[in-house]
Order: sequence, then structure tokens, then C-alpha cells
Amino acid sequence: MPLVSMRQLLDEAAKGGYGVGAFNVNNMEQIQAIMEAARETKSPVIVQASRGARAYSQDNFLYHLMIAATEVYPEIPVVLHQDHGNSPETCKSAINMGFTSVMMDGSLMADGKTPSSFEYNVKVTREVVDAAHARGVTVEGEIGCLGGIEDGHGAGLDGLSHLTDPAQAEEFVKLTGVDALAIAIGTSHGAYKFAKKPTGETLKIDLLIEIHKRLPNTHLVMHGSSSVPQDLQDIINKYGGKLKPTFGVPVEEIQRGIQNGVRKVNVDTDSRLAITGAIRKVFAEKPEEFDPRSYLKPAREAMKQVVMARMIAFGQAGHAFDFTPASLEEMAKSYAS
Ligand SMILES: [Zn+2]
Repeated sequence: MPLVSMRQLLDEAAKGGYGVGAFNVNNMEQIQAIMEAARETKSPVIVQASRGARAYSQDNFLYHLMIAATEVYPEIPVVLHQDHGNSPETCKSAINMGFTSVMMDGSLMADGKTPSSFEYNVKVTREVVDAAHARGVTVEGEIGCLGGIEDGHGAGLDGLSHLTDPAQAEEFVKLTGVDALAIAIGTSHGAYKFAKKPTGETLKIDLLIEIHKRLPNTHLVMHGSSSVPQDLQDIINKYGGKLKPTFGVPVEEIQRGIQNGVRKVNVDTDSRLAITGAIRKVFAEKPEEFDPRSYLKPAREAMKQVVMARMIAFGQAGHAFDFTPASLEEMAKSYAS
């Protein structure tokens, strides 16, 4: 099947009470790992590319790899999503390329670093919603600022410094018409999210619950939601890596989020850790190897395993065949009515 609408995937997730992992990619092996995991667990899935990923893959490589994914895995509903679009132009270029969903992150100015005003955020997001919905493409917005930096995007703030204000979130959705909303509840991008296991003081699920009460029909998005498992950190450090001690978002906290309106869960770091650990292991144990396949195959397998575990934990496993995907033309018509 062709790439599908994210809105429909998330509407189905809301009906079924589950969450959908959105996994970042830069290359062929990562796309294959996600698609294999989706096939094995019968999961609908979101594949997302940051601006950095689009630059790294020169856009066309990534897009055509995704078309290959729809050909090789025709039974799997898969969304191609622009992660953290910094401007309407970035989002429009993704839509023109064939992405079926875009994030307009107007919480920051177009430099991707400076926190913006509410008015600016509404203006650029509304512009993207108008352009995207006319083509049946889904839009995710962001209100409040996430912590950390991802692929050069982010204010580099502490996760708690620009938390989402629930009343503002409600107003933002009303004014923009976004399909999905990323909220800041204490999470950060990157591997170093929390110095110790997060508590209600550092990861504010209560705030999420309040936002969901005000916006029961808006699909909430948790960014920076890798769990940064100790065992993946240990493999890297055992084979010569030097990760500093760190904590991610525990899977059970993500599950609490899913019980309270979270439908999209962004995961990148966990995939990166799995890949790097597997490659380091081969390099350490078999220094005579020089065929890239000898370390990229185990790397792909390691990422597949962590993605499968998340698909099962988020509840999307088993839901690939629940619905008939609508075409983008049909989605555009339904937005228009
Ligand atoms: Zn993010």
C-alpha cells in the first residue's frame, strides 16, 4: 500500500487505546529494522526523518527507500513523517516530496534554537495546517519547549524550563487545527535525559493528564521518549564506549501516558544505542572483520529487537490490519468538510 495518513493511524490508536512508536531513520538499515519489526509484530508504524536526516540522505535516497519499504512490506500501514520542521518551507518541501505527515515546530524560531512567541507559533502552524490538510497530510504542532538538542534542533534547555501550559495548549489547538500536539512535560532529546530515575517532579505525567482532560480529542505526542535501557548502555561501555551514566523515560511511564491520550511516542536514542553496541561488539570480538555487512547485519538486528519491544509495550502490535487505509485524497476531502 502507499504511505498512509498519520491522522488515520492515530485515530485508530485512540479507538484501540494504544500508542504508536515513531522511529527516526537516516539510512537503509534503520528503515529495514523498523519494517521487519512491524511485520513480525503486525504493527502499524510511523517512520520519521529530521531535517538532519533529510540532509544526510540527500532527501531522495530516504524517500525512495521508504517507497521500497512500502513495496517490500505491502501489508504494513506506514507513515512518513517530518520530525521537527523548523519553518513552513521545510514542511512544504516534505509535503511536495511525498511525506504523509509533518511536524511544524513553531515553539522555536526558524533557527531551531530560539524559543518563539505564542503568536508566532500559531501563525506558522496555521499556515502549515492549511497547506497540509488541502493535500490530506497530517500536522503535528508543539507547545512548550522540549529539553536538549536533537540533530542540531533545540534550545538546549533543561526539560523543565518551558513546560506546556494546559490553557495555552487548548487555545493553540483551537487556533491552529493541528491533528497532533507535542507537549513538554520534562522530557529531553538525546541520551542524557535524567540524572536519576525520573519521579513525578522531573517527569510530569500529572501535567499530561491535565492537558488530556482539556483536549480529549487531540492526539498527544511524547518526544524524547527513549528509555535508554541500562543493558544497551552496558554493551556499548563493555566494548570500549564511554557513555556517562544516564536515565531515560521508563516504559511504564510511557504506558501511563498512553492511558492518558498519548498516541505517538518518539524514539531515536534507543535505536542508536542498539546499533552502536552491536557494531562495537563485532569490532571488539572480531577485529579481523572488514566487510561492512559483518557489523551492519547485527546492528540492524539489534535495532529490530528494541523496536519490537517498544511496539509490544506501546500496544500497537497486532493492529496493522484493523482498518482500511484512506488515500490522501480522501483525507483531504474529510478535512475540507
Ligand atoms: Zn522531538
